Amino acid sequence: MTPLYLDCNATTPVDPAVVDAMMPWFREQFGNPHSVNHAFGTAAAAAVEDARRSIARLVGADTREIIFTSGATESNNLAIKGAARFERRMRGSRNRIITVASEHKCVLESVKALAAEGFTTDVLPVGSDGVVETERLARALGDDVILVSVMAANNEIGTLQPLADIGAMTRACGALFHCDAAQAAGRVPLDVNAATIDLMSLSGHKVYGPKGIGVLYVRRRPRARIDPLFSGGGQERTLRSGTVPAPLAIGLGKAAELAATRPEEEAARIGTLARTLMDGLPGTSLNGPPLENRLPGNLNLAIGGVDAGHLISQVPELAFSTGSACTSAVVEPSYVLRAIGLTPEQAASSIRLGIGRFTTSDDITFAIERLNQAINQCRRQA
Ligand SMILES: *Cc1c(COP(=O)(O)O)cnc(C)c1O
Repeated sequence: MTPLYLDCNATTPVDPAVVDAMMPWFREQFGNPHSVNHAFGTAAAAAVEDARRSIARLVGADTREIIFTSGATESNNLAIKGAARFERRMRGSRNRIITVASEHKCVLESVKALAAEGFTTDVLPVGSDGVVETERLARALGDDVILVSVMAANNEIGTLQPLADIGAMTRACGALFHCDAAQAAGRVPLDVNAATIDLMSLSGHKVYGPKGIGVLYVRRRPRARIDPLFSGGGQERTLRSGTVPAPLAIGLGKAAELAATRPEEEAARIGTLARTLMDGLPGTSLNGPPLENRLPGNLNLAIGGVDAGHLISQVPELAFSTGSACTSAVVEPSYVLRAIGLTPEQAASSIRLGIGRFTTSDDITFAIERLNQAINQCRRQA
């Protein structure tokens, strides 16, 4: 039996329409989109440009501002390291990078790598709702800041950050605003101009697209200048050398197109399912912001007196996550849950449920029934 998938913040299933859109580009239309001397190449190049246009439209960008990468991890590395290294190479006077404690590991590790290269770094705290304290950001901002990196929506607790405020503050001090929007894209409205975003990362597999493809949005006016990570043939406006994987890029384009059709309707449906699920699990408490201020479909619940790892082992018919992460083979409480003030014990009793496009209300009924049984069983055994 296939378990019921409730882990849409880890990855989403590929939409069947996305699979259909990709197939011809794996089979007969296999041309290299950079080999434009013949029909194989020009057909692939044209389809990649169509995809770029759909992605640009989803976030209010210009087509020329969309750079294909292998995913949000690469996009985050490219944005953060690229901005810092460009500034240093041009002998600029700025030396500081600012981020937030609840960011994705790839952002925090990129910032840490820059600290080792001699940049000054600030990691700002968050409140119990996971929102960055903009007062603290205001105090940290100055004319020595190269870049501020704050995510749009958190992958564990669904916190939505005040992007427009952060963008305006960052622009006012002449720094670049980078936003990791891997979770937010396709789930909440995103507009690079409304939030004065200079650099923005997206991931294919978080928006019902394929794995192994992502995007970095790079603003043209005023231009966000970054150094590339890779040396090579200079593809993607010299920012990302390497052959663009046309089938994956075309799949992400289709995913962006689907995300743009009736987004409010989908968000409302998913939000209602999340509320039904939460209300169906008495004796649990919500970690992070209230549902109405949260990424639709994300639930993170502390289940008092229950070890989350044990609970998961009791319900193999449901696929979801714990509030812990396996870092270098040891199970540690989630640093995001710790950052919002949970004790290690509370984090160890927390689970994350991610509802998505293909979750039905019957699925939620089934999940409520099975989770309650398993929770009661764990509590009796404790
Ligand atoms: C999934 C995710 C990433 C990493 O994306 P990949 O495409 O898997 O590299 C980065 N940031 C956030 C917020 C994510 O949810």
